[in-house]
Amino acid sequence: MQFTFPKGFIWGAGTSAHQVEGNNINSDYWLYEHLPETIFAEPSMDACDHYHRFEQDISILAGLGLNSYRFSIEWARVEPEEGYFSQAEIEHYRRMLLACHKHGLQPIVTMFHHTLPRWMMSLGSWESDKMPALFARFCGHVTEQLGDLMSIVCTLNEPNINLKLARIQQIPTLAEIRQQPWAKAASHALGITPSQFAPFFYADSEKARDILIQSHKLATEVMKSKSNKLSIGLTLALDPVHARNGGEAVAKRIIDECHNVYLEAIKGDDFLGLQCYSRRLAGPDGMLPIPEDAETTDMGWEFYPETLEDAIRDSAKIANIPMLVTENGVAATDDSRRVEYIQRALAGVALCINDGYNVMGYLYWSAFDNFEWSFGFAPRFGIIGVNHQTQERTIRESAKYLGRIAQKNALTI
Ligand code: BGC
Repeated sequence: MQFTFPKGFIWGAGTSAHQVEGNNINSDYWLYEHLPETIFAEPSMDACDHYHRFEQDISILAGLGLNSYRFSIEWARVEPEEGYFSQAEIEHYRRMLLACHKHGLQPIVTMFHHTLPRWMMSLGSWESDKMPALFARFCGHVTEQLGDLMSIVCTLNEPNINLKLARIQQIPTLAEIRQQPWAKAASHALGITPSQFAPFFYADSEKARDILIQSHKLATEVMKSKSNKLSIGLTLALDPVHARNGGEAVAKRIIDECHNVYLEAIKGDDFLGLQCYSRRLAGPDGMLPIPEDAETTDMGWEFYPETLEDAIRDSAKIANIPMLVTENGVAATDDSRRVEYIQRALAGVALCINDGYNVMGYLYWSAFDNFEWSFGFAPRFGIIGVNHQTQERTIRESAKYLGRIAQKNALTI
C-alpha cells in the first residue's frame, strides 16, 4: 500500500548547535563538561565540527532528497557577554542559512536548544525574572539581522523536558542536583550559590516553568514585531505515558502537569513542534520498568515507533494547531532498526493525516551522530554516521530510505 503525503510536506532532519558544532566554549555546558566532578561521560570538544563543515553537511542532506534542515542558533556564540553581540557569529549563521537556501533546504531555526551563555547562568538562568526580556532581546537581534532568510522558527526546545524527566524519575530533582559536587563546583565557577543554580535539564520548579513559558511568549511577540513572515512555535517532549494495572491516575497526573499545561499555553501559536521517541508506563504506585520482553534502543528506551501516532492524537486534543514533527528517532548501532523505526513512525503519521490531523512535516532526529549530552558520543542517533576522530561522514541506509520517501513524498507500507 502506498500513502502520499500532502503537497508541500516538510521532510528533513535536525541537529542542535552544542551537539554538533564543536567548541561552544562560552556555553554553560562547556563548563559542566570540564569540571573535575563532571557527570558527563566525555566533553563535547570538536563534536561533529559542523561549525566548519556545515556546507558539506547541508549538501549531503540535500543530496538525499530532503527539503528541510533544522538547526539551532547558539546564544552563547551570538551574545558571548551580556549586551555584546558578535557580528562575526551572525555572519556565520547567515552563511548557514544561505547554504540551506542554495541547496534547496528550508531552514527551521531553533533559538534555544538547552545551552545558555555562561553570563545568563550567572544571572540565575531559568529562575531569573530577567530571562524573558534577555532571551527576547537575543531573538529580536537575530530576527533583525537574519529574519529575511528564516521562515519557521522554534523559540525553545522542549521547555517541558526538565519537569518530565524529573517526574518520570529519569533524573534527580533540582533540589537533589544542588547537593551534588559538580553542581556546587559549577555554581562556584559561575559566581552564584548552589540554591541559584538552575541548568536547563534540571530546572523543574514552577518558577522555571512560568519563566520558560513567558520567555517563549515574549520572544514570539518581539520576533513577530520585526518580521511578519515568520511562523513561530516551540517544541515539546511528548512521549506518552501509558497506564498499566490501575496506573491511570499516575499517568494522568504526569500528562496534565508535564504536557497539557504547556499545550494549553501555546494554543494561539502558529504550530507545535512535536517531539517523541518512546513511551513510558505508569502503575498505581509510580513508573514501571520497561517490560522484560520489550526490545530496547541503545538509550535503554522501549523501541516503540507507534509513539508518534499516539503523541499526535493526544496533543491535538488540547492544542489543535498545525503540528510539525521536529524530532523523532532512535539510537541504534544496527541501522536496520532505524529503517524500521522510521517506517513504523511514518505509518502512524500517515494514519493521522488520513484522519484529518494537520501535520506539516517530519524531521528525523538526528541528521548526524552527535553529542548526546551527558551520555557523550556513544549513542548513535544519526542517519549520517560520524567518526568523531576523523570527522568522516557515512551515509547510512536509513538516510537513503528517508530520502527516497521525501523524494516521492510517499511511503510504501
Ligand atoms: C533533545 C535532543 C536529544 C534527543 C535524544 C531530545 O530531547 O531535544 O537534544 O539529543 O532528545 O535524547
